Order: sequence, then structure tokens, then C-alpha cells
Amino acid sequence: MTDSRALALEYLKQQQLLGGDSVILTEEAGSREQGADTTAPAPGPAQAIVATPAPSSQLPAPGVSFDPPNADLFSTDPIQRAASLQDVATLVAACRKCGLCDTRTKTVPGEGAATARLVAVGEGPGRTEDETGRPFVGRAGELLTKILAAIDLPREQVFICNIVKCRPPENRQPQFDEIAACLPYLYRQIELVNPKVILAMGNTAAQTLLNTRQSLGALRNHIHRFRGIPLVVTYHPAALLRNPNWKRPTWDDVRIAARLLEG
Ligand code: SF4
Repeated sequence: MTDSRALALEYLKQQQLLGGDSVILTEEAGSREQGADTTAPAPGPAQAIVATPAPSSQLPAPGVSFDPPNADLFSTDPIQRAASLQDVATLVAACRKCGLCDTRTKTVPGEGAATARLVAVGEGPGRTEDETGRPFVGRAGELLTKILAAIDLPREQVFICNIVKCRPPENRQPQFDEIAACLPYLYRQIELVNPKVILAMGNTAAQTLLNTRQSLGALRNHIHRFRGIPLVVTYHPAALLRNPNWKRPTWDDVRIAARLLEG
């Protein structure tokens, strides 16, 4: 490593300690950097962490498999009969199946491509989502958009949604009965999109989709299955804002998802 690169690295580390915004560099970017002009000035304070671990050649071991029944074609349940994501969103907009309907401003059914290869699932809407009716549009949403861009997935090509479609008051965790009431919408959305990979972000999403009480730490770094679809568990972007040390493991997780998408 040249002196200028060592200095730049030191600078980035200092910026990280100072709380600067992080930048995730892809391997491609990393290799471009190898041939870059090393006399170039160090990046500004907005650029801080360079997370470019070498990928393992092996995918992680299989984990939990959860296989809830698919929609029954002869069911009279309107959720199971919903023929499109828009139909699901329409049902959500009128839903009063749990107490969260009393405090919501707008329902947040989810958004993205109907043919998305990746479905990203979080816990529930926050304040900005509740105001706008769109998932992941606050600071956590900006970070999720960056994370997806780092694996060459424009946000519009991903279907992004939550376990519950209405905001829990004060951003508390959704309760068991609220999750149980709302889950059929998510199941139907996943069924309609039929993605290649699911990314479960945070404890609530991971434990709910895999029907397990195992901790997020235990669930990470495995390839789980939801109705046979590979499912990768990672931290919720909001948790990354609170604890930047989790950005590196999150980057490792999304790269596993990216490899599954390529396969
Ligand atoms: S959280 Fe889900 S089940 Fe509860 S009211 Fe909203 S849409 Fe209906």
C-alpha cells in the first residue's frame, strides 16, 4: 500500500470514529480503486467506511425452513383472492383487523416491482412512512436504498414492505395479535411477486417469516427458506443508524442475497 493510500485509509477510519456517513464500496469499485490515481485527495467527511471483505466462495449453510400453505383457489377470503399487489393494497387501505388502524394516518402496504427478484421485509411503518403511505422513506429508507444500490439493485426493482402495514404507536414493536392479523397480506404479496430471494431485515421480520424465536444473531449467515424461496436475515436499516458497527455484517448479508440472485 502506498503512503497516500495508507493516509487515505487512516483518514477514512478517523471519519468513521467521528461519525461520518458511511459509503459501501462494491468489489468492482474496490478494484477500480486499486488502479486509481493514488495522488488524488482523500474523500470528504461524507465518505467514511470502506467495507470490502473478500466473499467466501461457499454460501452459508441451510437454516430454518417454513412452509405456510399457499392461497386456496376456492377460498372466499378476499386476501387470498387478491389478484394483484394493487388489490392487496386496496384491501389494506380499508383494513380494520387490528387496533393499529385506530392510530394510523395512512396504511403502508409496500411498493416496488410486481416482478421483483428480491422482496425486502422490515418490521412496520415509522412516522414518515405513516405520513406518506410509503415504506422505508425516512433515514432508514435512504440507507436501504444505498444498500440495494451497492448490489446493483435500484430500489424500484425491489418490492419493499413490512410485517405490519400500519404504524405501531411510538414505533413500538408490533404485538403478536397485530402481526397475526396482518400476516395474510404479506403472505399474499410474496405469493404474487414470487421473488427469487427474500431479505428479512431485523428480528421481527426474520422471526415472523421463519416462524421461530431464534435470535437475529443465530439466524444470520444461513440460507433459510420461506415456501422454498431462499431467505437471508440481516439487521434492520434503522438499527444500523443506531449502531454503525452493524454495517459491515449487513454488507456481508446483502452480498449473500446478491449471490443468490445471480445463481
Ligand atoms: S396493521 Fe395490518 S391487520 Fe392491522 S389494521 Fe393495519 S392492515 Fe389491518
